[in-house]
Amino acid sequence: MTASERPLLEIRELGVSFDTDEGMVRAVDGVSFVARQGRTLGIVGESGSGKSVATKAVIRLLPANARIDPGSAILLRRDDGEVDIAGLPAKGREVRRLRGGDIGMIFQEPMASFSPVYTIGNQMMEAILEHRDHLARRIGGSFDRKTAREHAIRMLERVGMSNARLRIDQYPHELSGGMRQRAMIALALSTHPSLLIADEPTTALDVTIQAQILDLMLELQQELGMAMLFITHDMGVIAQIAEDVAVMYLGRIVERGPTREVIREPAHPYTRGLLAALPRLDTGRRRLTPVPGDIPSPLQRPAGCPFHTRCPQRMPGLCDRLVPGDTPLDATRSVACHLYGEGAP
Ligand code: SF4
Repeated sequence: MTASERPLLEIRELGVSFDTDEGMVRAVDGVSFVARQGRTLGIVGESGSGKSVATKAVIRLLPANARIDPGSAILLRRDDGEVDIAGLPAKGREVRRLRGGDIGMIFQEPMASFSPVYTIGNQMMEAILEHRDHLARRIGGSFDRKTAREHAIRMLERVGMSNARLRIDQYPHELSGGMRQRAMIALALSTHPSLLIADEPTTALDVTIQAQILDLMLELQQELGMAMLFITHDMGVIAQIAEDVAVMYLGRIVERGPTREVIREPAHPYTRGLLAALPRLDTGRRRLTPVPGDIPSPLQRPAGCPFHTRCPQRMPGLCDRLVPGDTPLDATRSVACHLYGEGAP
């Protein structure tokens, strides 16, 4: 690890449950990970794996019926010390200050970030002025309406928006899908956050635009030295953007490690399934069905290994009874599966 890769966000034993009419639903079950400055951690899993809930907990954007376990820690390291976001009031001033300031967010649907009734420029300027102290700490200078507008134009230009001086006065619906996505990235990065959370930001885009946006995000991440949490269901996207990966299934991390190594030699049967779904240009293999069946409802969480109902390698009597713990494979990789570690067959 280099000095520029210091841990910026550390999540320890995060648990999130939802209080529903049918009972408590455990969406995130004891998840721990670290996001480092200047690096991207990809969190991958199917819908229902808990990946979005885990990252929404970081910005405290969970629905009102969500409960974060008392023992959970969400530690964000700032220049002036460490803050445990899990312990802050969700609607408090401190969380609002972190959200959009220290932590930027990009979603699949840009309209989740933009209001349709204000221009792109108005919304960017509002964010810049609201977080002007944070921004001044990050890049220096002071911001009033005029300098905030100039900064917003520079950010729009930086994300490749042509005619930024004209576009800044347009409404979100006046931009194409790709341009709206660029505007959302400009909005999220206009306050120069130290952590960027990107939740399926390219899923709705066609492949060419998706590749452009991923390249842009990587460029900006290097330029601004941010840590990035990139959430997706697509292992192909992870391969393009993330140095490290955590694979989630039914609220737990089942495998983690440097992306290249996990892709070259996946250890967990679920990771193998996700990779088997990718088309291979070298072999001409077409898209395959990764793993049979669907992810179970968190209301009917299976006993033992959460993946045993779909696992081609399950060992009856063991996998359906005992929850596998995290087994280190080497200094950087670990897997939660009974095929590894003490007592493995
Ligand atoms: Fe499959 Fe058993 Fe490993 Fe779970 S613990 S992934 S069921 S082999």
